[in-house]
Amino acid sequence: LDSAIRVKPLQLADSWKKQQVEDALKKIHLTGAQVLRIKEVFHSEVERGIHEQPSSLQMENTYIPELPNGTEEGMFLALDLGGTNFRVILLELSNGALIRENVKRYHIREELRLGCGERLFDFLAECVSDFVRSQNLGGTRLPLGFTFSFPMIQKGLDVGILLTWTKSFNCPSVVGRDAVQMLREAINRRGDTHVEVLAVLNDTTGTLIQGAVLDKKTAIALILGTGSNACYIERADRVQHWEGQRHGEKEVIIDIEWGAFGDNGVLDFIKTDYDRKVDENSLITNSFTFEKYISGKYLGEIVRVIVVKLVEDCVLFGGTVSDALLTTGAFTTSFVSLIEQDTVGNNCENTPEILDKLGLSYNADDIAIMKYICETVSNRAALLVSICTATLLERLDRPDTTIAVDGSLYKYHPRLKSWMNKYIHLLAPEKKFKLLLAEDGSGKGAGLVAAIALRLKQRFSQ
Ligand code: BGC
Ligand code: MG
Repeated sequence: LDSAIRVKPLQLADSWKKQQVEDALKKIHLTGAQVLRIKEVFHSEVERGIHEQPSSLQMENTYIPELPNGTEEGMFLALDLGGTNFRVILLELSNGALIRENVKRYHIREELRLGCGERLFDFLAECVSDFVRSQNLGGTRLPLGFTFSFPMIQKGLDVGILLTWTKSFNCPSVVGRDAVQMLREAINRRGDTHVEVLAVLNDTTGTLIQGAVLDKKTAIALILGTGSNACYIERADRVQHWEGQRHGEKEVIIDIEWGAFGDNGVLDFIKTDYDRKVDENSLITNSFTFEKYISGKYLGEIVRVIVVKLVEDCVLFGGTVSDALLTTGAFTTSFVSLIEQDTVGNNCENTPEILDKLGLSYNADDIAIMKYICETVSNRAALLVSICTATLLERLDRPDTTIAVDGSLYKYHPRLKSWMNKYIHLLAPEKKFKLLLAEDGSGKGAGLVAAIALRLKQRFSQ
C-alpha cells in the first residue's frame, strides 16, 4: 500500500533544498498504516452515527425513500443555496424527463452571507419573486424543492434545522432554526407568488437523484466542490432516527455530512500544523475538519500556508514573500488545478503565470517545488476521499455501484478522478464501481425531489 499511494519523489539538484521540502511535507504524505486506520475510524463513525451514538458523522435521514420512477410530470421550481451564487430554476418534467429548464443566478453579497438571517431569507424570497415574474408565472401554483447545502437536522422531507453554517456563510441567527420555515415566512411576507415549498435537500442528495436518472446503479453521491460531502442509499431498517410515521420504506437516502468527520478528534493523528493554520484562518474554526483537508475552499489555502513556511525557511523564492502570498485565500484551488495540469501534461506554462500573478520572483527550482507541493496536497485529498468512498462501497450490499459525483474540484482537477479510481479499487478490491459525473443535482435533482414529494403527499393523503 505504501508504494501504491506515494507520489513521485521531488527531483532537485540542490540536496539541502530537497531535504527541507521533504521534511516540510513529511506529514502530508499519508502512510499505508495511516490510510488503513482512517478507514477503520470512518467505518466506526458511520456505524455510531447511524445508531445515534456520539459520532462526528451526522448520518442524517433525508426522508427521501424513493428515486424518480419516470412518472414525474409538470412544472417545478428549484432553489440552490450553497455557494456565493444563489440560483432559481424552473424545470418542466414530462414522463420523468426534463423538457424545459430556465435558470437565473443571483449574487449574494457578503453582508447578507454574514449578516442577519431574516435579511438573507428576504433576499432569497425577493429573487424567487423576481424569477417567477420574469417567467410570467405569477398566478401559477409552483411546487418547490430547496437545495440547502449545509448540515441540517431533518424531521421530515420539508423540515431542515440548520446545525451549523459552513463554507462562506455565517448568519448566526439561523442556526437551530428550520430553513424551510424561514423561507416560507419570507415568501409569505411578500405574498406575491404561489410557491409551495415541498422539500428541502442537500446537494449530495440532489446529485444522487440526478445520478439515478442517468444510471440506475447509482447508490452513492459525492460533492467535491467548494465544500465536500457524501450521501448513499441505506437500508431503512438500519436507520433509527425517523420522526413521524413510517410507510414501509425499504431504503432511504442518508446524508453523511462527512465534512465534519474528525471534529471529535478521531482524525487528529493526521493533523499537521498547516491544517491547524488553515482552520485558524477559516470563517468557522474547530469545525469541518475533513472538509478542510479536501475541499475546494481549502486546498489552495493549505498549499499557501506550506509555501509561506518554505519562504520563511529561505527554501522558496530566495526567502522573499509578496503581499498576495500572505493573504488568506489568495492562492485559490483553481491555481492548484492549473499547476497540476503542468505536472500531468509535462509542461510548465501555468505555474510561472500564477507566480507572476502573485508577484513572486522564481527560478526553476521554485517551479519544481511548487508543483511538488500541489501534487502532495492534492494526492492527500484524493486518498482521503477514496478511503471514505471505499468504506461506503463495502457497506452497500451491491455487486456493482455507480457513484455520482459533482463539484468544481472534481471537474477541474486534472487527475483527482484517476487517483480516485486507483485508490478506491485498492481499498475496496472486491467491489465493482464507476464514477459518474452527474452535473447540477442541486438544480435538476431538486426539481425531481419536489416531484417525488408531491407524489408522496398525494399517496399518503388518499
Ligand atoms: C455542507 C454539506 C454540503 C457540502 C457540499 C458542506 O460544507 O456541510 O451539506 O453537501 O458542503 O456543498
Ligand atoms: Mg453546489
